[in-house]
Amino acid sequence: MRLSNTITTITGGGSDGWDLFIKARKMISEGHDITELTIGEHDIKTDTRILEAMHAAALGGATGYAMVPGIDDLRNAVATRLTARTGVPTTLDNVLITAGGQAALFAALRAALDEGDTALYINPYYATYPGTIRSVGGVPKAVTAEADNGFLPTFEALDAAAAGAKALLINSPNNPTGAVYGRDTLKAIAAVAKKHDLIVISDEVYDTQVWEGEHISIRSLEGMSERTFVVGSMSKSHAMTGSRVGWLVGPDEAMGHLLNLLTNTNYGVAGFTQRAALFALGLGEAFESEIGAPFQRRRALAQKALEGQNAIRLSQPSGAMYLILDIRATGLSGDDFADKLLMERHIAVMPGESFGDAAAGHVRIAMTIPDTPFEEAIKEIAAFAANLA
Ligand code: PMP
Repeated sequence: MRLSNTITTITGGGSDGWDLFIKARKMISEGHDITELTIGEHDIKTDTRILEAMHAAALGGATGYAMVPGIDDLRNAVATRLTARTGVPTTLDNVLITAGGQAALFAALRAALDEGDTALYINPYYATYPGTIRSVGGVPKAVTAEADNGFLPTFEALDAAAAGAKALLINSPNNPTGAVYGRDTLKAIAAVAKKHDLIVISDEVYDTQVWEGEHISIRSLEGMSERTFVVGSMSKSHAMTGSRVGWLVGPDEAMGHLLNLLTNTNYGVAGFTQRAALFALGLGEAFESEIGAPFQRRRALAQKALEGQNAIRLSQPSGAMYLILDIRATGLSGDDFADKLLMERHIAVMPGESFGDAAAGHVRIAMTIPDTPFEEAIKEIAAFAANLA
């Protein structure tokens, strides 16, 4: 079969960064008791009330083709949400419902790039970014956000990379680093975007999970709404990862073209899951806080467990569901540390290198197991690192 270059080079030839995760899963299937701190998925399931709304919607007939751009009620609810959060007047015409945030990322990149166009993204990065850029024929170009600068990108680094690029993909609150971009960082990004005429794709799927500071959408900055796509999702905010409901919000001129893309790709998202998402949004901010609370709590547990030692430095995690641990004092790479930790202590964490070389010498912890084993695991990791250091 003569497959396209585009599809055979999605991973860029390197590993997809999930080797350790796969190794841990294999050990589990062989009967080992492994503490998994790898995957960004809640340890709770979708709330029963949301499932009941889904069930009722399906029984009520929402099982046929749904409107391709999404059902009006949900698009309106997302528009209201974005208007409130960004101060930018947003109507349902600016909103398309997608199969999770991931499909929105793909659509936004498809809208921004032609074959061979460059998209900038910030290193460390969420694992799918370079592959998604390549999936639309784009060329991914990483811009380092230094660990010693709190993993925040700077104007200088972005400006130096931006000549000739067409798009810039950002993510705050950030996976894997937990960094939350403040106004100054966002202003610097906006300045680069304007200077180099970039389309900004702002992945805000963790916008309800901020533990320090506040979530600011770059779309709310002056002159940015006309060049910004916002990617959102029910996955993280409402513990609905498997329902695959997300959205893409963008300027009027783009949305008709994007609708053509959706018509010719997914042809819509299941109506009963959209109805469930609408119901879930209606549960309001109190529910979203409830979903985020365990991560806030576990972050505090980890901070406490890591006090008074210096083999591990906890980079300030301001949001999302992850911690990034600086293990450079042990002299090991993130890959070697994670592998040794798995083999010797049966704890699986993600090597920082899986998220780009800017996170080398770090490991990412997903705070997605219950508090007590979580706290024990952090203490165990600290003892393990102290031994090595
Ligand atoms: N962006 C980021 C930063 C993520 O961490 C994830 C999921 N891990 C996604 C997008 C995609 O999420 P979904 O497709 O479930 O909305």
